[in-house]
This record gives sequence, C-alpha cells and structure tokens, in this order.
Amino acid sequence: MDAKHDSHQLYTLYRRPYEAILRAGPRLKPLQQVHARLIISGSHCSLPLATKLLVLACTAGAITYARQLFFSTPNPDSFLFSSLITACSKFHFPLDAVLFYRRLLASSVWPSNYIFTAVIKACAELSALRIGRVVHCQSLVRGYGLDSFVQAALVSLYAKCGDLVIGRKVFDEMPVRTVVAWNSMISGYEQNGLAQEAIGLFYQMGDLGVEFDLATLVSVLSACSQAGALELGRWIHDYIINHGFDINVVLGTSLINMHARCGSVSKAREVFDSMDERNVVAWTAMISGYGTHGYGRQAMELFDKMRAHGPAPNDVTLVAVLSACAHAGLVQEGRQALASMRDYGLAPGMEHHVCMVDMLGRAGLLNEAFQYIEQLNPVKPAPAVWTAMLGACRMHKDFDLGGQVAEHLLAAEPDNPGHYVLLSNVYALAGRMDRVELIRNTMIQKGLKKQVGYSTIEVNQKTHLFSMGDKSHPETVEVYQYLDELMQRIGEAGYVPVSDSIMHELEEEETEYALRYHSEKLAIAFGILKTNPGVTVRIVKNLRMCEDCHSAIKFISAVANREIIVRDKLRFHHFKDGSCSCADYW
Ligand code: ZN
Ligand code: ZN
Repeated sequence: MDAKHDSHQLYTLYRRPYEAILRAGPRLKPLQQVHARLIISGSHCSLPLATKLLVLACTAGAITYARQLFFSTPNPDSFLFSSLITACSKFHFPLDAVLFYRRLLASSVWPSNYIFTAVIKACAELSALRIGRVVHCQSLVRGYGLDSFVQAALVSLYAKCGDLVIGRKVFDEMPVRTVVAWNSMISGYEQNGLAQEAIGLFYQMGDLGVEFDLATLVSVLSACSQAGALELGRWIHDYIINHGFDINVVLGTSLINMHARCGSVSKAREVFDSMDERNVVAWTAMISGYGTHGYGRQAMELFDKMRAHGPAPNDVTLVAVLSACAHAGLVQEGRQALASMRDYGLAPGMEHHVCMVDMLGRAGLLNEAFQYIEQLNPVKPAPAVWTAMLGACRMHKDFDLGGQVAEHLLAAEPDNPGHYVLLSNVYALAGRMDRVELIRNTMIQKGLKKQVGYSTIEVNQKTHLFSMGDKSHPETVEVYQYLDELMQRIGEAGYVPVSDSIMHELEEEETEYALRYHSEKLAIAFGILKTNPGVTVRIVKNLRMCEDCHSAIKFISAVANREIIVRDKLRFHHFKDGSCSCADYW
C-alpha cells in the first residue's frame, strides 16, 4: 500500500471511523486492520463503533475475534447486546448467542423483544429445549408474553424440539399470527411425522384467509407426501400455478416428492422435466421416485443421464440408485453403480451396504450377500444390514442361515420388537414352533410390543385411518360388510388365505379373522365403497404389507375392476387386473 493511499485511509479513519469500518465489510483481515488503526490512532472505540465491528465480525464468521472484541468493550449497552445476539443467532453461532445472553442477564441491561427472539431461535438451532423453556419464562416475566416475534420464535422452538403440545398452546394464544408462525407450526408437525395435524392447520390457515407463502407450500407438500394425500397435493400444485409462484428448485423438488410419494410418478417426471434448474436434490428425488415404484430401468436411465449431463451424484443419490436396483432385481447395474461411487470420491456407507445386501439377498444370492457382510469387517454392520439379510433368508426360505443371521441381529439390537417378530416368522416358517414359543416368551418378559399396523386413505381431501380390527370409524358397519362381500367374491375367484403371514402383524389375535381385517383391506374396502368406479384407490400403510394382503389385493383389483396403489413401508405396489407391479418381488 503506498504512503499517499495509506494516509488518505488514516484520514478517513480519523475523521469518519464508522465509514472505514463499513468499507472493510464482513472480512476479518480488513476489519482487524481498521480496528488496529483505531487503537493506534488513539481514537475512542465508541459503543456504536464496537457494535458495528461485532456484527461484521459475526457476519464474517470470525466468532473468536468477536468474543475478544466483546470482552474488551466496557459497559455494553442494550443496542450492542441486541445486535450481537441477533448476529450470533443469524450467522449460526447459537451457543455464543446463549452465552452473550447470559452476560446480558448478569449486567443491568434490560433485554428487548429482539434479544428474546434471537436467543430463542438460537435455542431452537441447538435443540436446547431446557434452556429454551428457561428463556421462555424469562420472556414472560419481562412482559413479552404477547409479543408476536417472541411467540413465533417459541412456536418454532417447541415444534423443532418435538414439544408440539406447548408449541400449539403458544400458537393458539397468539393474538396476531404471522405467516411465519403458521409455517413454523405446520413444519413442526410435518417434521415430527404428524402430517395430519400439519394438513389440518393448513386448512385452518386457508379458512382464516391467511396468504400462503413459499415456505407454507413446501411444508404442506411434504406433509402430503407423508400422508399420501394426493388430492390436496394436486390442489396445492394448481394453487402454485394459478398464483404464479415461480417453480424454483426447492418447490419443484417438493412437487416431485409429493407426486412420486403419492403414487403419481409420471406427474413427478413432468414436473422434473419442466424445471429450469435442477440440482442434485431434484435429480435424487426423481430417481428415488422411480425406485420406490419399482421402475428400476427408468431410475437407471435417469442416473446415466445425470452422470452424463447433470450435477455430480452424492451419497443420497447412490442410496436411491442402489435401492432402485434392489427393488427391481437389477443386480449387475447395482454392482456397477456401487463401483461408480469411486468416480465421485464417495465411499460406501452403511446405507449403501444395506442396499447391496438387500439387492443380493432379494435376488437369491444369499451366500454372496452374506459374504458382502463379512467383508465389511472390521466395520460393524448396522442392524439394518442384518434385517435386510434376514428378510432375504425368509423370502428364499433358507431357515438355517436365517437363524444365524437373526442371532447377529438380536445381539446388535436386543430391544427392538421388530427383530423378534422377524425371527419368530423365520422359525414359524421353518416349522420350529418351540423356537417361536421361546421368542414370544422373551418378548413378553422384556415387555416388548410390536408396532401397530395402520393404513390411511384420502377421500374428498379428508384422510381416514384404519387399524387392524378397528371399529372406531363412523362407517364401520358398512366397511366390514363390504369387505366381507369382497372377501367372498375373491374366494370364489380362487383366493386362498396365506396363513404364513399370520404372525406378520403380531397383534393380540392371530387368527384368520385378524388376517381378514388387516388395516389395508379395511382401507381398500372403504376406498372402493366411497369413490366412483374407475377411480384409483390409494392406500398408505405404515408397515410392510403381508403376503396375504398382497395376494388378496391382487384378487380385489380384478373382481372390483379397480386400480389399487399401496405404499407400504418399503415401496409402492400398483395392483391392476389381478397382478401387481412388483411381480411379487418385494
Ligand atoms: Zn396383511
Ligand atoms: Zn406388489
């Protein structure tokens, strides 16, 4: 730097230090230079100057420097605290936001609503529910109980930490609900798996005439994906088009996920093709959409296209690709995809291992799958790897190997009821009823209960839930009557109950009666009863579908002349004219 320039800078610094700081901007080195000159020139670093320096330091990500600066500033005022805590919270130094807040409490400065908003946001980022609760109390004591900014931050804190009851309480008490508060509440439900509540709130928002913004639409689309609510999802898609929302990469990806997860994969592809910009997330969403529907070839075609013209695939893309191969029996393609990870500097992780074992196992290459697990040594296989292996043993009725695998699985995760169920299924199929008995007793001793299976169906934009043998639905009599009628008709058409799967849901009753009233059958009966002929019936089931239901639904699709789409825990099944898209390979 030449002398003339330097002296000019010094002049500016001396006369207008604030300007000098602004010129330095959010860059650590220049900020430090200005700061050093301020000290050397002996000019007083006033609180407004210190505040500006602090905010720019946080913006630059220089938190250590910001801390030093803070502790060398005597008597910070409310404005300094407010700016500093807000900056820490905004630029993702949540721990510092909380620490500076504690310094503030120890001083005589009165915290503003902005400070509370920022600290609560920081607690949310840290998922620090206990500290968040304390800050909540402190905000009440200081009279900010009805401040809409503080309330909105609290709603998202509780929503993010999963305390939806308190979150909803704060939300309901808000005199003015900003769109941000609605969004945090909706996304709170959605991210905690409570899609129905999220959708309910969205309707309430519409009834009250609150304008939706991009964040609302993205959250609700994701809730629709979870709940399989295609009608609502389609309505939102129309809303987006009618209101001229720009379908950017985030919204586009949400739409792809919604259509694919609600069973409409061709519509998902339309959205994908119409997008101007597609990042790795969008490509991955589309590949995964094909994969879960069993369209392995299309998934691979898209993957090839991505490799040639798209962004570099990441870990998640490869999981989608491998799982697509597993579901479609594309063993050779799967092996190649795994090898291709090296081209992108990616190393296979546990999820990829699960897919590989699943793929080899489903294809009947049990020994190869087992060897794959062994060669992972010294990496310890996750329980999911053993689960995939055990599923394959069960599918291909290799009960000796199944027994061995099950022991590994139980050793890896002794308290998961799902494993016991799987194991007892394997033994039941092997005819080892003594073993089945033993496992059931262990489960009873350990107080383990199986997850309850349920299915949902959306009719007229309202979602109905059925669980096995459940009689709580208002139209329960009609549903059971109609299901009995259906069962009789498919019986005449040649359906025979598959008793193997009686253990599958392992609820209280394990009789043919129970099998007959599995939740997906109830939901399908309701769906056929309540929709016009020709309308596709779409069901979402939380567990894997049992073999008996799979067989029964094939027959139902033929006798009722309906296309039926079931999304179970693992994939989609498209039933039509007596057969299923998975070709019984799932
Ligand atoms: Zn079933
Ligand atoms: Zn199927």
